[in-house]
Amino acid sequence: MAAPTPPRRRVLLGLASFLLKPSLTEAQEPSLTWSPEKIEIGSPVLFILTTPHADKVAGTWQKHTLEFFQSLADPNHWYALAGIDVGKDSGSYEVSVEVTRAGEIQTLRRTLQVTEAPYKEIPLTVPEKFVQPDPKALERIAAEQKLKARVFATTAPKPLWTGRFLPPLKSAPSTDSFGTRRVFNGSLASVHRGLDYRAKTGTPVMAANSGRVLLARPFYYEGNCVILDHGLGLATIYMHLSDFSVKEGERVQRGQVIARSGATGRATGPHLHLTVRWQGESLDPAKLFLLKLPTTGT
Ligand SMILES: [Zn+2]
Repeated sequence: MAAPTPPRRRVLLGLASFLLKPSLTEAQEPSLTWSPEKIEIGSPVLFILTTPHADKVAGTWQKHTLEFFQSLADPNHWYALAGIDVGKDSGSYEVSVEVTRAGEIQTLRRTLQVTEAPYKEIPLTVPEKFVQPDPKALERIAAEQKLKARVFATTAPKPLWTGRFLPPLKSAPSTDSFGTRRVFNGSLASVHRGLDYRAKTGTPVMAANSGRVLLARPFYYEGNCVILDHGLGLATIYMHLSDFSVKEGERVQRGQVIARSGATGRATGPHLHLTVRWQGESLDPAKLFLLKLPTTGT
């Protein structure tokens, strides 16, 4: 990414207020970068704003609010961990960031090119009750969706994660990976919004990062399920568990064993399904593991 060109008007304003306020020279103009550089549908995106003397940094990205937090190691760096849903179209997406410095607000706008990812189509067979749930099951599914929406809204106002996210299992991911278009029992198509790991029932499952247990209970599709909040709208969801060892509301550390894998809910056999969710957008866990992330002091 090229360094942003400072708008001329901004420089003039800066000069005009030179005598009254600390000077903000051209070298100190805010710059916005992101990681990874190449963004595909379903990618997480770490936005990095570099600016001295900022009092506040906020932004928007695809109608979501970006909540930036300040780096512990270098107060000139601000971060927001976000992403783009696997179901979105490829194309140009604008990010807009407002920086408040010495009482003045400056807006940075950049365009990100989001490309298609090569997701495959896979036919699957599951018990019919998961393709055509009966009215009672539909009622249960609707109640579970409401509950999940309610708890996702209680996300912590700061990052609970710190450093890189780690795979929840030591084994390699299976072939039914993130983003595949799945045809259940020859009829229903859906996008696979997580990453599956082949794992025998009873395999220990670890927290991908530090966080708080939002939910740990059985669900219709997810089976026994643990949802961890990592703060600022980011969650990891562990499905089809045989068993879990954490309680709702409990704080967990990265790498802590939180559950055992299984085959509960809509599963074709024993495996672990991991979903990464940011403000409702489903992100590729494998891409999140590759992101180099700062420590946050959590
Ligand atoms: Zn899955």
